[in-house]
Amino acid sequence: MANDTLGHVWLVGAGPGNPGYITVAGLAALRRAEVVVYDRLGTGELMGECAEGALLIDAGKAADNHTLTQDEITALLLEHGGAGKRVVRLKGGDPYVFARGGEEATALADAGIPCTVIPGVTSAIGGLAAGGIPVTYRAVATSFAVITGHEDPTKPEVGVHWERLATAVDTLVILMGVGRLDGIASALIAGGRPASTPAALVQEASTPRQRVATGTLATIAEVARAQGIAAPALFVVGDVAGLQPLLDPRRLAPLAGKRVLVTRTRAQSSTLVEVLRAEGAWPVVLPALELERRVDPVAVMETRERLEAHEYCWTVFTSANAVDTFLEVLWEAGGDIRSLNGCSIAAIGPGTQRALESRGMRADVVAVDAVGEGVLTTMIATGTMNGTRVLLPRAEGARDVIPDGLRAAGAIVDELTLYLAGTPAAAPAEALAAVRNGEIDVVTFTSSSTVKNLATLLGGDLSALQSATVVCIGPIVAETARELGLSPHVVAEDHTIEGMVAALRAYLHSTSADTLGQ
Ligand code: SAH
Repeated sequence: MANDTLGHVWLVGAGPGNPGYITVAGLAALRRAEVVVYDRLGTGELMGECAEGALLIDAGKAADNHTLTQDEITALLLEHGGAGKRVVRLKGGDPYVFARGGEEATALADAGIPCTVIPGVTSAIGGLAAGGIPVTYRAVATSFAVITGHEDPTKPEVGVHWERLATAVDTLVILMGVGRLDGIASALIAGGRPASTPAALVQEASTPRQRVATGTLATIAEVARAQGIAAPALFVVGDVAGLQPLLDPRRLAPLAGKRVLVTRTRAQSSTLVEVLRAEGAWPVVLPALELERRVDPVAVMETRERLEAHEYCWTVFTSANAVDTFLEVLWEAGGDIRSLNGCSIAAIGPGTQRALESRGMRADVVAVDAVGEGVLTTMIATGTMNGTRVLLPRAEGARDVIPDGLRAAGAIVDELTLYLAGTPAAAPAEALAAVRNGEIDVVTFTSSSTVKNLATLLGGDLSALQSATVVCIGPIVAETARELGLSPHVVAEDHTIEGMVAALRAYLHSTSADTLGQ
C-alpha cells in the first residue's frame, strides 16, 4: 500500500565532541532533517548545522525538565517518522556503541518506518586518539575490548566478566566508568592484570575542555580524585596508555589544543576558522567588526556614470570587503562588472586579488607587500599618474596614504565611501567569558579596526589578553596593537590568512619545546 506520509529516520553518530568528526553522510542527513532528536553528549556545536525551522528535541530534557526515558525517545521517533518527516536521531560517538541505537532501529523496523544508520567515530577509539592514545600499537597492543563501566563490579550478578577480561585483551577501554575506578581497577588486578599496567583517563575527549590523566592500574583512581577528573571520560588500561606523553596531540602539532581568538567579521571568519581547526586548534569566534553600510546612492550613481563614460583610468581596492560591497552597490545602482570595462584595477594584496577573481575580475596590479604604500608604488611604477582619474571605493575613515600619494603624483582621486568598520553592539557571551577568564592562548588580528573594536567590546582595554600570544596580519595592524598596550609576538610577512597562520605555527613551534612535557 502506498503511503505518502512515510517518513525516514537516520540514526546518526556525531562523534565524540569535535564537530569535525561527524561523517560526511551524517552531516548531510543533519542538514536535511526536519526533526532532530539529539543527545547532549558530543553533539553541542553541531546543532548549528540544523536547517532553519527544524524542530530540535533535546532527548536529555523534557518540558518538565526530566530526562526522557528510552520509551519516550522511541515514541518520538515513531511519531515524527510516522508523520512523514525526515528525522535525525543524533547521538554522541557511534549510534551502536552503548547508545541504544540498535533498540531504536528495531522499534522503527517493527513499526515499518524506514531507517538508516550512519555510523560515527566512537569515543572509545576516536576519543582516545584525540587524547594521544592509540588503541592498538604494533608489538604493544594487538587487541582491544570496549566495556561498559556502568555496572557495579562488586555485585555478583554483573554482566561484565572483569576477571576474565583482565588478561584476555591488551587494551581495555572502559566507558561510563569514572564513578567506579576503584572497583574496576581492583577487579582487573584480582583477574591477574599487573598493578603496574599503565592506565589513563581522557575527559571530554576531542573538545576544548579535554583533560588527560595518566597513572597505573594501582594509582589511577587516586590520580583521578587528585586531578578532579569527572564524567564523561574514557578509562583505558594497557601499555598503550603509557604512550600518551609521546603522542600527546600538543606535542605533535604546535597549534593543537590552543584556543585562538578570531576577531574578523562573522562572514569572513570561516577561512581562518577552517585553517585553525585543520591544525587542531580551537577557534573562539568573537567578531569585533561589523560593516555598516555608509553609501550615498547619488554618489554611487555618479560613479557608475563616470565609469561607464570611461573617465576612470584606475579603480583601487584595498580589501576583499571593499570588492564585495562595491560590486553590491554597483549592482543596486543598475550596473555590474561591465561598468568597470576599460578601467585598470589595483589590489592591495592577495586576499583582495582573490575576492576580485571570485567575481570574475583580474587585478592589473597587486601590491607585493599588501599595504597602502605598496599599492601606491606599484601603481606609479606602471606609468605616470599625472591627470589620471582614480576611483577608490573604501571604508569611512581609512588611512590616507593612497589618496594623498596619488594626488601628490598628480592624479585626481574620487573616494567612494562604502561602509564604516563599526563595532558590533554585542559579542557572543561565551567568547567574551573565555577572554575575560584568561582562557585565550592566541589572539589574531587581521585589521586595525579589529584591534580597536575589540578593545571597545572589552570595555576600553585589552589587558585581559596580556598573557595571550598576539598575532597580527601585518605591520600596520601590529602598530595599532602596540598603541593599545599589546606586544605582538608574531607579525606576518605574508599578509594573508595562510601567511598569518604559518607565521604563528612557526612561532609556536620554536617556543613549544619550553612549554610542553613538564
Ligand atoms: N555512543 C557513544 C558512547 C555512549 S556511552 C560512543 O560511541 O562514544 C557514554 C560514555 O561514552 C561516557 O560515559 C564516556 O565514558 C564516553 N564518552 C563519550 N564521549 C566522550 C568524550 N568526548 N570524552 C570522553 N568520554 C566520552
